[in-house]
Amino acid sequence: MIRLKPVDALIVGFGWAGALLALELSEAGISVLALERGPFRDTVDFPPTTAPDELRYAVRHDLVVPPAIQTLTFRNRVNETALPIRRWGSFLPAWGAGGGGVHWNGQVWRFRPSDFELARRARARYGDRFLAPDLMLTDFGVSYEELEPFYDRFEYLAGVSGKAGNLQGKIVAGGNPFEGRRAREYPNPPLAMPYGPTLFAEAARKLGYPPFPRPAANLSRPYTNPLGVTLGPCTYCGFCERFGCANAAKASPQTTILPVLRERSNFWLRTDVTVLEIVHDRKAREVKGVIYADGRGERYFQPAGIVLLAAYTFENVRLLLLSGIGAPYDPQTSRGVVGRNYTYQTTSAVTLGFAEKRMNPFIGAGALGMVVDDWNGDHYDHRPLGFLGGAYLAAMATNGRPILNHPTPPGTPRWGAEWKRAVAHAYLRTFRLLASGSSLPHRGAFLDLDPTYRDRWGRPLLRMTFDFHPNDLKMSAFVTAKLAEIGRAMDPAWISVSPRRGPYSVVPYQSTHNVGGAIMGTDPGASVVNPYLQCWEAHNLFVVGGSAFPHNPAYNPTGTIAALALRTGEAIRRRYLARPGPLV
Ligand SMILES: Cc1cc2nc3c(=O)[nH]c(=O)nc-3n(C[C@H](O)[C@H](O)[C@H](O)COP(=O)(O)OP(=O)(O)OC[C@H]3O[C@@H](n4cnc5c(N)ncnc54)[C@H](O)[C@@H]3O)c2cc1C
Ligand code: SF4
Repeated sequence: MIRLKPVDALIVGFGWAGALLALELSEAGISVLALERGPFRDTVDFPPTTAPDELRYAVRHDLVVPPAIQTLTFRNRVNETALPIRRWGSFLPAWGAGGGGVHWNGQVWRFRPSDFELARRARARYGDRFLAPDLMLTDFGVSYEELEPFYDRFEYLAGVSGKAGNLQGKIVAGGNPFEGRRAREYPNPPLAMPYGPTLFAEAARKLGYPPFPRPAANLSRPYTNPLGVTLGPCTYCGFCERFGCANAAKASPQTTILPVLRERSNFWLRTDVTVLEIVHDRKAREVKGVIYADGRGERYFQPAGIVLLAAYTFENVRLLLLSGIGAPYDPQTSRGVVGRNYTYQTTSAVTLGFAEKRMNPFIGAGALGMVVDDWNGDHYDHRPLGFLGGAYLAAMATNGRPILNHPTPPGTPRWGAEWKRAVAHAYLRTFRLLASGSSLPHRGAFLDLDPTYRDRWGRPLLRMTFDFHPNDLKMSAFVTAKLAEIGRAMDPAWISVSPRRGPYSVVPYQSTHNVGGAIMGTDPGASVVNPYLQCWEAHNLFVVGGSAFPHNPAYNPTGTIAALALRTGEAIRRRYLARPGPLV
């Protein structure tokens, strides 16, 4: 093994979390090295001629880690044998510089204040007996108010297009009336709204639900961010989710941060290298660096003063388990912390077919659409309903691309001339509504190391054990009925209502919002990291990303991942570097 020169800070993974940490730490003047297992990518890799290649990117997953390089095994329950996922379906783990930030949709949400205190508030509002005994609710250990400045910073770095609903405590018409108090307006106005979401908004308004535009990191106009980096305006090209943007109009690490980082002489990004293990000195309660391998299989020891895992939920958790850091969670006893509280997102859909109204689904952007938030989180009384949680209800103007999108009315044959006729008619006249729902942690949902299957380095694969909890399925039935109510008010010729049903399957795409497993909290006996995402077991190890969420609220996670990463970076820069040690 080759021993390399030490660096002050080492970041594992260069997605949004890694890039934001690199920005913050290199600002402090220390040496910062990021190691990324996938290839280097920049905006020039997505020219307009090849960026919208649906077969390459959306079907063949060109920007997603090949399962032969990294996969995981899956089972629904502990008494089943898990098998390896050999083709990605339900979620699409990233690889390469920029991570999922290159090919995400760009929906940038803040969690609500109550999301950070779900456990405390649910018990106070409904009492202990209301909650199913196998739910493992714990709070984030950080408040919305503490995160607000970091949400704000990310929105301005990314140039988010949206409309505030709560400006300094004042509810503003046209925005989300349920959101937490924000210091200022979004940096850019909302995107222009196409026909489908406009109809949805009219119907919702008539029913008394205030609609608002979804906050989008697809830019509504040219914008120069506070770092001096300029992004272009979105052309509503529709090749957004699963694609790199040909117009530098979608915020990604490349379009917002990398141009600044590459000018800093104390920052290095090394790509095509895989971190295999964190070197841990248990006695000293410190980590010493990482062992990584390059493409030829050569192994290196990279010493570092601080190690920051930003390798997405799966690899964050797996690297902790492989390195023997933190007690692994045991579902039989509910003891141990690493791997517990794995949660997902409970999505469902309503499809509407119109006789003549043309929705023109080829006009779209990743985060384009209108939303209703009345049936989300604790915005309504759950007592008579018998479940916790909820969903935001959205009209999407995205993913209308021709290969993967051929809707047909219910009852259409699945092939042949009649199917073709139905597709030709329905393509322009069909519109999809989505409920993006919460996912609560429960005893039988967790991540651990697979006892059988190994990767090409001989290391155990991560094993996922997950099924939707009955609480979440009940919630999905309820919110999908609300979504259908709005859909019916849009006056469709036909409607198809699909609440989420169990068991969970890894085959159809649902969302790449896999969170938990290395959760944050204030109790070292029930969490892996403290509220600064600093590992309880080693003060110079930080585990950053959705892995820290103790549960998954209904909103997409990246706004909160980014805010937490910026808060961690600032705490290291302002406090840890002056006095290394536990931050709480
Ligand atoms: C199709 C799609 C659409 C999405 N849309 C949205 C959206 O609209 N809104 C939203 O909030 N979220 C969305 N997401 C989720 C979003 O992409 C993620 O939440 C976000 O990218 C996570 O950032 P991250 O930096 O934590 O992890 P990642 O972006 O996954 O970055 C982690 C990086 O670590 C690298 N890595 C992993 N293991 C190792 C290792 N052992 N050694 C070295 N490097 C390693 C990976 O290659 C990767 O590049 C979407 C995801 C997908 C796939
Ligand atoms: S829809 Fe807009 S942001 Fe998305 S890829 Fe196309 S131009 Fe870029």
